[in-house]
Amino acid sequence: MGEDEITAWFAQQRRLSGEDFPIGVGDDMAEIRLSEAATVLITTDMLLDGVHFDLGKATLRQVGYKAMAVSLSDCAAMATVPVGAVVSVALAKGFDEEQLKELHGGIVEAGDKYGCALVGGDITSWRGDEPFAISVAMLSRRGATEPIRRSGAKVGDAICVTGALGGALLGKHSEFEPRVAEALKIAAMVSLNAMIDLSDGLSSDLNRICKASGVGAVIDSSRIPISDEGQKMKDPLASALNDGEDFELLFTLAEGESEKLLKNWDGDVPIARIGWVTESGKMEIKMPDGQMRDLEVRGYEHLG
Ligand SMILES: [Mg+2]
Repeated sequence: MGEDEITAWFAQQRRLSGEDFPIGVGDDMAEIRLSEAATVLITTDMLLDGVHFDLGKATLRQVGYKAMAVSLSDCAAMATVPVGAVVSVALAKGFDEEQLKELHGGIVEAGDKYGCALVGGDITSWRGDEPFAISVAMLSRRGATEPIRRSGAKVGDAICVTGALGGALLGKHSEFEPRVAEALKIAAMVSLNAMIDLSDGLSSDLNRICKASGVGAVIDSSRIPISDEGQKMKDPLASALNDGEDFELLFTLAEGESEKLLKNWDGDVPIARIGWVTESGKMEIKMPDGQMRDLEVRGYEHLG
């Protein structure tokens, strides 16, 4: 089973009350109702040394920043407003106070930038040579709109992305900018049907929207914005489709809404329309030579 299959299995084991949990297992964040007037959204991400970062290359400040930024990107994926986070760490043997302070510096740097307070956490230490691990649980609140889910894509929707994709393997992933402000701004300008953040690669994350919405998609390869780092890869298109850790937004909206957005968007981060939603149930890609091919899911696999 891959991550998506096991997540779906978990979701089937217990039925959550839709009233108490407006959004349950399987989206970028879950939503919990606290009272008639208030809900809170929650996400958690665990990062491991040797898997999600390499302490031989990255500084602890960068690791703290990235751990927060990954969860902030999930807040962006739902167009919600980050509020607070708790951070748990499993320290490698010999980890000292100075190192903890450096890690803390990265955590609060990201938190301050995006308005998310560090409100607690937990520190544990390994006895042997086990690697460093860090886990963030982050809470957010609704913005001006309902949280944007993965499951709302409609046949005929335009598919858009922010920024440029690919090349995260060349290092841009350690200090990326989660698109929190952009998501809130886009959601305020137009009506979005579905959204996700690109953590595992366009092919994987678009597939999640298609599966959750029961639709298909056609992507035009010539319209995919490829980053400068992605252009340096051996196969830039494959890098943009599959490498992951872009942490850009992928969203769908009605054709007319996409025209309105592209015409009026004045943000620093560009938005590109890369395709459209179909009823085929499968993902296809128009290759540079004009041929249509099935778009295979080749993004990052967590349980690999
Ligand atoms: Mg996500």
